[in-house]
Amino acid sequence: MFKAILFDLDNTLINFLEFKIETAKAAAKAMVGNGLPATEVEAYGKIFSVYDEKGIEYQKTFYEVVKPYGLEINLAERIQQAAILAYLQKKFEVLRTYPIVKPTLSTLKEDYKLGVVTDAPRNKAWQRLILTGLSDYFDVVITLDDTKAFKPSPGGFNLALKKLNLAAPECLFVGDNPERDIKGAQELGMKTCLAKYGWNKRKTDIKADYEISRFEDLLKVL
Ligand SMILES: [Mg+2]
Repeated sequence: MFKAILFDLDNTLINFLEFKIETAKAAAKAMVGNGLPATEVEAYGKIFSVYDEKGIEYQKTFYEVVKPYGLEINLAERIQQAAILAYLQKKFEVLRTYPIVKPTLSTLKEDYKLGVVTDAPRNKAWQRLILTGLSDYFDVVITLDDTKAFKPSPGGFNLALKKLNLAAPECLFVGDNPERDIKGAQELGMKTCLAKYGWNKRKTDIKADYEISRFEDLLKVL
């Protein structure tokens, strides 16, 4: 029935939220250990306050956390760099696919074109794909840099269709965010599948055609 399956990346294929939580904990600990006059819990809270305000992909988060303390410039730099290194170290340790993602993608790849449509910036998307061993599975990878607009705007979905030379009804879209992934794909006429194991705290009236509680259950949907 379908010719292609398109995936959201963060919290659908990879454990992005867990990665952001664990890296924030590690960064907070490093900041306090290097002289930030705060508790680790406070520093952790400030990191997520910056994410809430500037977006979770914001690149100067630790700078924004340290700045209001008005610290001497070398101390401020030390704290920032300690946070960046702790973040990166923890990133390499924690970031991974959900269970059984790669065998499932291998099976799907025999019968379908596969693609990613993500709101992550191009460099971060490729870092995450390479780091988690997913970089060879997809016929098309569409990132925020291709469209400059977050889902549910149609740009990324349409670009994937164009590159695959397919029409919307020929594609299934799999994502964890009803308001972005499911809504955007539905509006173009794609069938949709909600990854319930992802970032699933959202209240919404948007209903996907299918729901999965584990990634490999996708094989039963098809
Ligand atoms: Mg997602």
